[in-house]
This record gives sequence, structure tokens and C-alpha cells, in this order.
Amino acid sequence: MEKNIAVIKGDGIGPEIVTEAMKVLDRVAEKFGHKFNYEQLLMGGCSIDANGVPLTEETVERCKAADAVLMGSIGGNTTTSPWYKLPADKRPEAGLLGLRKALGLFANLRPCLLFSQLSEACPLKAEIAAKGFDMLIMRELTGGLYFGARKTEEINGVMTAVDTLEYNENEIRRIAVKAFDVAMQRRKKVTSVDKANVLDSSRLWRKVVEEVAKDYPEVTLEHMLVDNAAMQLVKDPAQFDVMVTENMFGDILSDEASMITGSIGMLASASMNESSFGLYEPSGGSAPDIAGQNKANPIATILSAAMLLRYSFKMETEAGAVEAAVNKTLEAGFRTGDIMSDGMTLVSCSEMGTKISDNI
Ligand code: NAD
Repeated sequence: MEKNIAVIKGDGIGPEIVTEAMKVLDRVAEKFGHKFNYEQLLMGGCSIDANGVPLTEETVERCKAADAVLMGSIGGNTTTSPWYKLPADKRPEAGLLGLRKALGLFANLRPCLLFSQLSEACPLKAEIAAKGFDMLIMRELTGGLYFGARKTEEINGVMTAVDTLEYNENEIRRIAVKAFDVAMQRRKKVTSVDKANVLDSSRLWRKVVEEVAKDYPEVTLEHMLVDNAAMQLVKDPAQFDVMVTENMFGDILSDEASMITGSIGMLASASMNESSFGLYEPSGGSAPDIAGQNKANPIATILSAAMLLRYSFKMETEAGAVEAAVNKTLEAGFRTGDIMSDGMTLVSCSEMGTKISDNI
């Protein structure tokens, strides 16, 4: 198969980690007889330096023309970088928000799994960590409280702020469909998280999710209130397969879930639209503290590339081969600095990429 991948290396460690993910994709192409064409594009701080704006129309158009987008991370040191002296809508992050919007990326997929080789980094009790977990949080990304109408005004001498949590049935249906589709590629269980005992938007959410579930008889659906979900994540994360939830709940729960894996450098993510198109990036940021030192952990970006193969290119075997190569490399004791422990072998970012690609 021949596929076109738009590549946004971005800022900080972005260029280092994306280079390693491309190394792995090239190995996949060689081994499985595919051809991946890359087009490198600017976005974020590097685009501000080159073009005066964090996102250009050209980058948007070239991304739209590609089959998928592979991204590193954008942004710099928020206290010292001149990018953060600019107005908010001209800063690096505005480029990413603008790109997600322009590409219609409404579903954020964050797999959270505990690698057995790294279970010591898990902050949960040893007996919980020993069970392991492998879940995916599907967060709605373009609706709800973060995008609803808001205002702050003085009413009868009292300052009053209002944020609106609004969802329509179409917005709920499309994210629910995405969650059930992904569950079909996994262990066929969906946990829908809401606050239906209080919120109207959650009651509509629950109703629409139940309607969608009828089209997926093989998938088990359960509903869970968000406060309980926050507790269950630390008590028994192994119970979850796919968790689907609205924007703000997903924002908070996905950070909680990534924390219990113990290592930000290992966590992949994808943002998708209604088709199979997606933007794939590590969960972490541009790590300016270690940028340019060949120290960053490229595994999150490599696993994001595996998600790209699975969800945008429908290359399940190839995605599995990348994940198996990551496991094999960890099993052999190789670690970047962020996941280093006694008795393991410290490797650089580029050495880690090479070891993983050699294991495919
Ligand atoms: P960060 O995730 O960049 O760094 C937090 C800590 O994690 C740092 O100590 C860093 O060294 C470490 N870390 C992160 N990724 C790592 C990796 N792959 N390997 C080894 N260590 C890693 O978060 P921050 O310092 O709060 O933010 C830095 C910049 O990144 C800011 O400008 C922020 O806005 C931006 N950011 C961008 C994205 C994105 O591109 N999607 C996401 C989050 C933050």
C-alpha cells in the first residue's frame, strides 16, 4: 500500500522523537511491502519563527490532503521563550487548536497501559499494578463546557461567571460510534462516563449512547458516574477497556489514567474525525528541559505511529508488530533516562529508535 503522511515535527524534543517514529515506519514499510511518503510541515513555535504565525493555511491544506498526520509536540519554555510574549491567539498552542478544528478532529483517543517491565513506576499498590491494565480513553474534543457560551458580569453588584455545557445528539452519537468501533478492535467493552444523576447533558449522553449500542450487540456497555470512574481508575483500572466521555470529564480522567501508568514518555494519543483520518502525537509536551540532547523517550511517538497504522491505515498486523518490538526492547532491558532503573541499560533517543526498528 502507498500512503501519504503529513509530518509535523514541531518544537523542543519534537524533531528528535518524530525522527525515531519515522525510522520505525520505514522499517514497517520495508518489512511489509508498503510505501510511506512524508511531507514535512511547520506548526507551532517553528512556524512562528518562519512565518510569523503558529499555523498557516498551507499546513492545514497539506494535512487535509494527506492520509494521516504524525506530530511531535509544540511549544517552548512558557516563562522564557519569546513565543509566550505574543498574544494568546499567536502562541504555539493556538496552532494546534486551530489545526484540530480545521481538520474536524472531535475524538481524542488515549491508550493507557501499564507495561509489565515498568510496573515499578506505577504509583498504585503493588497488588493492583501486578494485575496490569490496558485501557483507552475516548474523549470528546470539540464540544461541552470548553466550547459553550461563557460570560462574566456583575449582577446586582455581585460578580457572576457562567460557562455553558452543551451537547447535541449528533455530537454525542459520532463519538459513541467511534468508541464502539474501537471497542470492536479491542476487548469489546465500553464504559460510558457521565453525571446523569445531575446533568441534563449527561442524561441525553446516556440515551444516545444506548441507542448506538444497539448496533453493536457484541460489545458490552456499562454506564458509570464520573466521580465513581475517578475512584475506580485507582482501585481497579484493569476493569476498563474503552472509556468514552465528554470533553471536561475526559480531560481530567485521561490525565489521571496517564499518571497511573507512571511514565508520560510512553503514552501515545490520536485525534480523529468521522472518517479514518487522524492526527497522531505523544501525550507529553515539547520537554524544553531536555530538547536537543538526544535524551527524550521516543516510545510514545513510536506507539502513536502504531495507532496511525491501526486506525488510519487499517494495518493491524503492522501496528501489532511495532507494539511487540517496543515490548521486546523493554524486555531486553533498554531504557531512556525517564524510565531508567537499576540494572537496566541506558540508551539515547536515537538508540532506542534503532533498537525498536531492529526488533520489527
Ligand atoms: P512536558 O510534557 O513537555 O514536560 C514535562 C516533563 O516530562 C519534563 O520534565 C520533560 O522532560 C518530561 N518529558 C515529557 N516528554 C518526555 C519524553 N518523551 N521523554 C522524556 N521525558 C519527557 O510538559 P511541560 O514542561 O509542561 O510543557 C512544555 C511545553 O510543551 C509547553 O510549551 C507546553 O505548552 C507544551 N505542550 C505541548 C503539547 C503538545 O504539543 N500537544 C502537550 C503538552 C504540553
